[in-house]
Amino acid sequence: MSDSDFDFAPMPDQDGFFGRHGGQYIPENLKKAMDDINQAYEEIIQREDFQQELHSLMVNYVGRPSPIYHASRLSALCGGAQIYLKREDLNHTGAHKINHCLGEALLARYMKKTKVIAETGAGQHGVAIATACALLGIPCEIHMGEIDIKKEHPNVCKMKLLGAKLVCVTRGTKTLKDAVDSAFEEYLKDPDNYLYAIGSVVGPHPFPKMVRDFQSIVGKEAREQFQNMTGGLPDCLLACVGGGSNAIGLFSAFLNDRKVRIIGVEPGGRGIDTPDHAASMTKGTEGIIHGFKCYLLQDDAGEPLPVYSIASGLDYPGVGPQHCYLKDIKRVEYVTISDEECLDAVVNLSRYEGIIPALESAHAVAHAMKMAKTMSPDQKLLVNLSGRGDKDLDFIIETIGDQL
Ligand SMILES: *Cc1c(COP(=O)(O)O)cnc(C)c1O
Repeated sequence: MSDSDFDFAPMPDQDGFFGRHGGQYIPENLKKAMDDINQAYEEIIQREDFQQELHSLMVNYVGRPSPIYHASRLSALCGGAQIYLKREDLNHTGAHKINHCLGEALLARYMKKTKVIAETGAGQHGVAIATACALLGIPCEIHMGEIDIKKEHPNVCKMKLLGAKLVCVTRGTKTLKDAVDSAFEEYLKDPDNYLYAIGSVVGPHPFPKMVRDFQSIVGKEAREQFQNMTGGLPDCLLACVGGGSNAIGLFSAFLNDRKVRIIGVEPGGRGIDTPDHAASMTKGTEGIIHGFKCYLLQDDAGEPLPVYSIASGLDYPGVGPQHCYLKDIKRVEYVTISDEECLDAVVNLSRYEGIIPALESAHAVAHAMKMAKTMSPDQKLLVNLSGRGDKDLDFIIETIGDQL
């Protein structure tokens, strides 16, 4: 394949398609709201004052650039390639989500929206968007299933303290899927004045593009930092894929570097031949969810299947449309890691490097460790460490505490 086979810069096309995936599968009245958002977004990113404000927040508020760290003891444990980590876990609020939530909140302020609405499962997106809204003084309403509210006590407390209005969703399964429906109904009451802040590179156009652009800072920094540190590019990039935002954020700066192998790591749960996984790219088929087309874990009627992962940030039955396209053209490979392998990686990264990763991020670390063993010591792997594990501590201790 030559360097010029694909040019990724203009993706998606003007209708929001990445190849066959993406687009806007939504009612006509929502199409206007999405087109308004797209237009405002295209305007705002051209503005010098917006770019300056976003940059200054990234530096002085989020703490960017996040470092790249050579995990030499973990690499030695594997006995092969060198593993490097892009430390998104060191951002304010402890994960990569703040990167796009600040962008979305600035857009809401620019569009004079009176309220930002979001849903949240484990509460990670909820905390990040509540943080951004607190910072910019925008009212924020977060819909969350009753069961998740009981499970995710610390995040619920944070959202309340940050001033967000928390809506407890008691219908259906009382989890993420019903929280999405509930948040969406609220949004439909007044899409002109509300902004629905989507938490990953999913949803109707322009969200997959916008969220990717806001996350692309991760890859831009990493590419430069890595070259300064090692004199070259990594042999391989790895990131976990739920909706796909931290992954595309890192990958986007390297897509035209043909020699860099790129791998997205999906949650294999209790096994991809059981119903208990969320490997949309590996096991899904083309379908429509939340207003866009992608590889989807679905039943015969096209309804999204209930999915599972030990990492609640990864259990989504769909996946970002650009990832689907990158799979189709074989630029990115998608693999799976099981719950058990994920937990092993959590323990190893903690014990050998003193870094406790989020369960989501540990999927990427686990696959890097597997690969490193088969590679030579002069080769280099760069893993996006999307978040820290504080939120998972109680669960980890309950699950494997007796083995520690
Ligand atoms: C939410 C989350 C993810 C998954 O979301 P993507 O959009 O796939 O990046 C991964 N890691 C952490 C730490 C998260 O909070």
